[in-house]
Amino acid sequence: MISDVLIIGAGGAGLSAAIAAKEEGLHVRVLTKEYPTRSQTCMAQGGINAALGNHGEDSVDAHIANTLKSAHGEADENAVTFMCEEAPSAIAWLDSIGVPFSRTPEGKIAQRTLGGASAARACYAQDYTGLKILHTLYDKALSLGVEMVADKFLLELLKNSDDAVCGAKVLDIRTGELQTYFAKSVILASGGYSRIYGHYSTNSKTSTGDGIAVAMGVGAKLKGMEFVQFHPTGLKKSSILISESARGEGGYVLNSKGERFTNELAPRDELSRAIDAEIKKGEDVFIDIRHLGEQFIDENLPQERKLAKLYENVDPVSELIPIKPVAHYTMGGIEVDNKSKTSVEGLFACGECANHRVHGANRLGGNSLLEIVVFGKEAGKSAAKRAKELPMLNTSIEEQSHIIEELDSWSNEISFYEVQKNLAELFYTKVGIVRRKSELLEVQQELEKIQSQLPQMGVTDTNRVYNTNLIEFLEFCNMLQVAQSVVTSALQREQSCGAHFVVGE
Ligand SMILES: Cc1cc2nc3c(=O)[nH]c(=O)nc-3n(C[C@H](O)[C@H](O)[C@H](O)COP(=O)(O)OP(=O)(O)OC[C@H]3O[C@@H](n4cnc5c(N)ncnc54)[C@H](O)[C@@H]3O)c2cc1C
Repeated sequence: MISDVLIIGAGGAGLSAAIAAKEEGLHVRVLTKEYPTRSQTCMAQGGINAALGNHGEDSVDAHIANTLKSAHGEADENAVTFMCEEAPSAIAWLDSIGVPFSRTPEGKIAQRTLGGASAARACYAQDYTGLKILHTLYDKALSLGVEMVADKFLLELLKNSDDAVCGAKVLDIRTGELQTYFAKSVILASGGYSRIYGHYSTNSKTSTGDGIAVAMGVGAKLKGMEFVQFHPTGLKKSSILISESARGEGGYVLNSKGERFTNELAPRDELSRAIDAEIKKGEDVFIDIRHLGEQFIDENLPQERKLAKLYENVDPVSELIPIKPVAHYTMGGIEVDNKSKTSVEGLFACGECANHRVHGANRLGGNSLLEIVVFGKEAGKSAAKRAKELPMLNTSIEEQSHIIEELDSWSNEISFYEVQKNLAELFYTKVGIVRRKSELLEVQQELEKIQSQLPQMGVTDTNRVYNTNLIEFLEFCNMLQVAQSVVTSALQREQSCGAHFVVGE
């Protein structure tokens, strides 16, 4: 099965890339392990940034300055400038293909203020922004004739005798078969790795860093893996996100005494540390949106009300919402240049699995949806350019073996589910908001131990059809590999920087 451009992942990044590549007149195929419209992008709530100035003054320069400040010197100014300059046309494009943005009474796209922004800059569709964007992109991609194939799990990338990536090996989840897809250009758009933190994460179960682990397998360079963003306002019991839109619309952060102890619109790294310190003092922490009133909440924050009722059993119209900071976004990923090229020939990456150097050590709310559209399209164009220039695809590959072929000889005396749960606990407490070198070393040793025990942690279900036990095991293996890279990078960076905050030894 050969295509011009093969994309792994159908979130906002993968679909933006697919549309851009398809518009170049090529055959574009998208493979994804889950149904495209369920990709994590659909969970994004608060908004997507662009300096439109629809609610008071704003400018592209201010957007650039806010992004660079929040990044703590770790972003690339050219990449940030490009993204912020492209933002207004990205919104105009999304609007033109049918994203139902909320509107001001005058009919302009409505905007709200998110943390670290000097203006109301986040365009939104109530608090369902990601869902509306993803579904619109999906419709657009289908209408253009992009081939969309769900239930394919990426196992490894294939390299040919020119040392270039020329395709991917996948597991067909429906049948259990191993399959090979060839392409002139391959784009990874497989999302981030926050699920290493297990239930201490706002992320979908599928954010297991698969694409990053697979890219490591072909020698792709990674960057900034230590930078994991904690969102200040996950629901206390479930870690489900209460979006920044709640604070953006005027919500307060309170402790058990009812005191506002912090600046609610500070960047996420600062606010998470302030809340973490309060919790460590023995306080409970809450978001309070009662003063906004029922009508305003139902019009602008309907999802937040629903989530608080469903998962915390409180109605924010009359009650406080209990919260805690949880892992939310991974700034690190596959190193790419401004054209989304990785360090490996033929391989491109975009979205949360990539590091386009626009978020640095701390991402601004609303900048990820922007990045996946702007750089997703760039990745699609770059991959299409390579595919057009490549005269013939060299498919001479050496057979590689993958864990999956060895599994039959593995035992399952140790439950990987238990190990995964303990690892999440360890990451939350020791590779979390505040880090210590001695604790990072402890986690590193634990990871080495788990790695050596892997052959005793095989699957218990040997069925081939829709084997979720197998998929979860493969995801666990990927997380284990990515986790080692996070800890190694964290140990290499001895000074605090943004989301990587180090104290003592
Ligand atoms: C609750 C929540 C709210 C958020 N709110 C906002 C917001 O308001 N504004 C903002 O800017 N950002 C927000 N974000 C962040 C933003 O939504 C994400 O960073 C962004 O959507 C990531 O998009 P993506 O396309 O890179 O990845 P995803 O949307 O995660 O898509 C990844 C794709 O890769 C596929 N995939 C993964 N592994 C494999 C594999 N092994 N084989 C095959 N396919 C695979 C998946 O099936 C999926 O299709 C939020 C995040 C969360 C969790």
